[in-house]
Amino acid sequence: MIEVTGLTMRYGDALAVDDLTFVVKPGLVTGFLGPNGAGKSTTMRVILGLQAADAGTALVGGRPYGSMREPMREVGALLDAGAVHGGRSAAAHLWCLARSNGIGRARVGHVLDQVGLAEVASRRIAGFSLGMRQRLGIAAALLGDPGVLMFDEPVNGLDPEGIRWIRELMRLLADEGRTVLVSSHLMGEMALTADHVVVIGRGRLIADTTMSELVARF
Ligand code: ADP
Ligand code: ADP
Repeated sequence: MIEVTGLTMRYGDALAVDDLTFVVKPGLVTGFLGPNGAGKSTTMRVILGLQAADAGTALVGGRPYGSMREPMREVGALLDAGAVHGGRSAAAHLWCLARSNGIGRARVGHVLDQVGLAEVASRRIAGFSLGMRQRLGIAAALLGDPGVLMFDEPVNGLDPEGIRWIRELMRLLADEGRTVLVSSHLMGEMALTADHVVVIGRGRLIADTTMSELVARF
């Protein structure tokens, strides 16, 4: 479970997240919907402990990210797949992540299979397409077998087959009882993916409801 309470974040004078409160429950795909600039990425970055909140709290399983001894076993995230860089191979990248997070090497092969990158595991990431980088980022998120997963705009730049694959993966992860939060600025995409939806605009909560109830409003 993810619990965001009274979260407020500023960049200088600009308010990016404004007193935001919501809960993300396990066993569902929860969409995080809002236009570009609404504050979705900032909220996810605070949940992941990458940015400090100006006010409020963001807890995963009742605790702040910073207090977890082995965070990748509790929460995995795909934030900016395009940012995965480097001359290393996909396997080496994941081995390194596993080693620095106390995760057994066997998980690397498992997640490479799970995301469909097993055959290109020894290739350099530098030559990967955006779709392959998305898959690699998802492999990193799954590496610690966490109960909570966050995906920031995971279908951006993907072809229809990749989009379908992501949708099926989210469903599978939720059906396994995990907590799944997936952001998008596309209402249509959310309608096909999410059970529940948290809608934000200008950093403020607009709706927190089932997907079918939201669709019925339009
Ligand atoms: P979303 O993910 O919904 O597109 P963001 O969280 O990226 O929204 O952005 C929320 C607001 O914060 C936007 O107005 C954006 O321009 C601003 N913002 C995001 N990152 C930064 C940053 N590093 N420095 C300054 N402003 C930022
Ligand atoms: P180090 O500090 O040794 O470089 P970290 O474990 O702090 O290693 O993080 C290295 C990489 O792992 C970064 O690219 C970061 O974005 C990614 N990362 C950290 N935590 C997570 C997570 N929970 N899910 C997915 N990627 C993560």
